[in-house]
Amino acid sequence: MPLTKFFTTHFTDSATLAINERVKEMWAQEQTVFHLGFGESRFPVHPLLRDALAQNVHRKEYLPTHGLPELRTAVASFYQNTFNIPCESPQVTIAPGSKLLLYAVQMILDGALLLPTPSWVSYHPQATMLKKKSFWIPAKANEGYILTLENIKKTWKLAQSKGHKRGLLLLNSPNNPTGGMLDLALLKDITAYCRHEGILVLSDEIYGMVTFEGNEQRSVAEFYPEGTIIFSGVSKNLSLGGWRMGYAILPKTMPEVTKILGTVASETWSAVAAPIQWALSEVFDTEGVIDYVKEMAIIHGLRTAYIWHGLTQLKVLCPKPKGAFYLFPNFGFLKRGLAKKGIKTSEDLATYLLNHYQIAALPASAFGCPSTELSLRLSSSFLDMETDEKAQNILDAFRQNGAKDFIQYLPNLQNAIFRFGDFVKDHQ
Ligand code: PMP
Repeated sequence: MPLTKFFTTHFTDSATLAINERVKEMWAQEQTVFHLGFGESRFPVHPLLRDALAQNVHRKEYLPTHGLPELRTAVASFYQNTFNIPCESPQVTIAPGSKLLLYAVQMILDGALLLPTPSWVSYHPQATMLKKKSFWIPAKANEGYILTLENIKKTWKLAQSKGHKRGLLLLNSPNNPTGGMLDLALLKDITAYCRHEGILVLSDEIYGMVTFEGNEQRSVAEFYPEGTIIFSGVSKNLSLGGWRMGYAILPKTMPEVTKILGTVASETWSAVAAPIQWALSEVFDTEGVIDYVKEMAIIHGLRTAYIWHGLTQLKVLCPKPKGAFYLFPNFGFLKRGLAKKGIKTSEDLATYLLNHYQIAALPASAFGCPSTELSLRLSSSFLDMETDEKAQNILDAFRQNGAKDFIQYLPNLQNAIFRFGDFVKDHQ
C-alpha cells in the first residue's frame, strides 16, 4: 500500500509561493528586486506596547480558551467606541491570528462560501481544506471590481441550484487585494437581502483602522448584528503580525456557536501566549496607541496614493484604494504587446515582470480572477521599509515634515513606478 494514501492530495501550493521563491533566489544573488508582493505592515512596535510586553514577560500560565477576560473586555469596548457596534466581552474570542478564527468558524458553520472576486488568498484554500464549496461572486476589471448586490444574488441562486441550503457571505472591507471599501448603501442592501435569505456574513475587518482620508469604516454588523461574525486583530493596524493575536466577535444571539468556538480552541490552539494577551489588554486601546494607529494609516495612505497616481499617469486601470495597503491594477490594455511575448495569464505576467523589470507582484489568479485577466496585486507596505531601521526612518521623516515632500524618502517606491513606466512603454 503506498504511503501517499495517508495524506490528502487536494492541498495545492499557492501561486504566490513561486514568486516568493524567485525573489529569495534573486536576493541571494544580490539582485535588485522591487518587492510589491509582500503584504506586511512594517512599522516599529509602539513604545507603550514594548514596555507592556516587557512587564508581562513573567506570565507563563495557560489562559482561558476564549482569551484573557481583560483583553476580551478591552476588545469589546474598543469595537463599541470606535465603530459604534454594541459589543460585550462574552461575544469575543481571542486566537493566534484572525486567519485561524476564519478557519475555525468555517469549520463550525455549515453552508457554501460566497466569495467576492477578487478575494484574499486564504479564504478559498481554507474552504477547500474543509471540503466546503465556494462560489465566486463575479466582478469586472473595467468596472473596478465593484461588488454588487445583483451579483451576490446571482451567485447565491447558483449555489441554491446546486443544492446548497445555507450560505456564508464573506465581506472584507477595507479590502485585500483592491484597497476598496463597501459603501453604506450596499451594506444596507446586503443586510436586507441576507436577512431575507438567512445568509450569514463573515465580515473580515482586519484593515478596519487602515482607512485613508475621507473614507470612514462602516461594518455590516451595524445593520445586521444578528447575522454578522466580525474578524479582526492587531496584525495590520498595529503592525504586529508576528504577535499572533486576532479576534472574532460573534453575534450576541449565537452563544452556542461561541461555545463551540471555545471547544475548538480548547482542542487545538488552547490560548494565545500569555505575555502577549496581558500586554495588549493593558495598552492596545489607549490614546497613545490609537494615535499611532492613525499616524501609520496616514503613511500607508500616502505610500499607496503615490503608486496609484504613478500607475494612473501611465493610463493603467486601477481602482483607487480607500484603505489597507494594496492596489489591484489591470494591464489588459497591453494585451496585444504581451501576447507577442507569450504572456497570456496573470501568472505569466507576474513572472515576466520579476525576471525582466525586477518588480515582484502577485498574480490576480491567486485572488480568484480568471487566469487570463491581466491584473496584479501590489502591496505598498514594503518598499523603503525593508529593514527595521528604514521603517523607523520613514516614521521619523513623517513626524518631522508631515506629508510635504514625503516622496523624497521613498526612492525604491519611485523607482518601482519608473520600472512600470518602462514596462508599459515597451509593450504598448
Ligand atoms: N484577512 C486578510 C484580508 C488578510 O490580509 C490577512 C493577513 N494577510 C488576514 C486576514 C490574517 O491576518 P492575521 O491572521 O495575522 O490576523
